[in-house]
Amino acid sequence: MKKKYIIAGNWKMNPQTVEEAKRIATQVKKVAIKMKKIETVACPPFVYSNLIKVDDGFSLGSQDVYFEQAGSFTGEVSAEMLKSIGAKYVIVGHAERRKMGDTDEVVAQKLNSAVDAGIQPILCVGEKERDQNGDYLGVLKNQIGASLGKLARKDVKQLVVAYEPLWAIGATSAMTPADVHETALFIKKVLSDTYGQEYALSVKILYGGSVTFKNAKDIVALGQVDGLLVGRESVNPEGFNLILKEIDGI
Ligand code: PEP
Repeated sequence: MKKKYIIAGNWKMNPQTVEEAKRIATQVKKVAIKMKKIETVACPPFVYSNLIKVDDGFSLGSQDVYFEQAGSFTGEVSAEMLKSIGAKYVIVGHAERRKMGDTDEVVAQKLNSAVDAGIQPILCVGEKERDQNGDYLGVLKNQIGASLGKLARKDVKQLVVAYEPLWAIGATSAMTPADVHETALFIKKVLSDTYGQEYALSVKILYGGSVTFKNAKDIVALGQVDGLLVGRESVNPEGFNLILKEIDGI
C-alpha cells in the first residue's frame, strides 16, 4: 500500500479555552478517522494533549520538546513524557521557536532526544527570503545539516521534514506548487548526499505556509510532497476538514 500523506495541524497557542479545544479535537477526529490516504496529526498546546484521543489515522504530536531527559528544567517537557502520553510526533525547529532562541544546535539536540525516545521529529526548515541568485538553497542546505546534528543513518527513517519558507508562514498566499516541488527535490538531494539515496527517499517531506482547502490539493499533487503542516487553518475545524477531504481525494 502507498504511504499515507501526513497532514499535521500546528495549533500554536490556540485556542484559549478547553471547551473550544474539545470542539476542535472532536470535529477533526470525526473526519480524520474516515480518511483512507491520510494520517492526521494534531499538535495542540501541551495542556490540551489529553483531549486528542488517538485512533487509526489520528495521531498526537507536540509543538516542542526539551532536549534534557529529566531534572531541574522549570517549564520544560521531555521526550519521554511525550512518549508516555502517546505522542507519535514532535515539531522541532519551527520558525517561531527559532525566533524565540532555538539555534540549529538546540534544534539538533531536540531532534535527537525525540528520536532516542522513539518519537518522530517533524523538522521545520525554511529560508527567510528568496533571493534572485539562489543563495536561499545554500541557506537551506546549511540549516538542514546543522539541525540534523548527529542523527544516525539508522534513524533517518523516523525523520519528517517540513519545508516552511518563513515568508509564507502566516501570509496571505502560499508558495506555488512548482516552487514547492523544486525545493522538495533539493531537500531530498541534500538528505541523499548525507545519508544515501535509499534513506533519503524514506523521509517524508511536508510543505507548510498559508495552506487552506483552496490550495492544499495543488500543493500536494503538483508539488509532489508527502503532506502538509497547517497553522492557522488547523484550529478552524471546518476549513481543516476540507483540507483533509481535498487530499484524500487525490
Ligand atoms: C506554521 O506556523 O507552521 C504555518 C504553516 O502557519 P500558517 O499555516 O498559518 O501559515
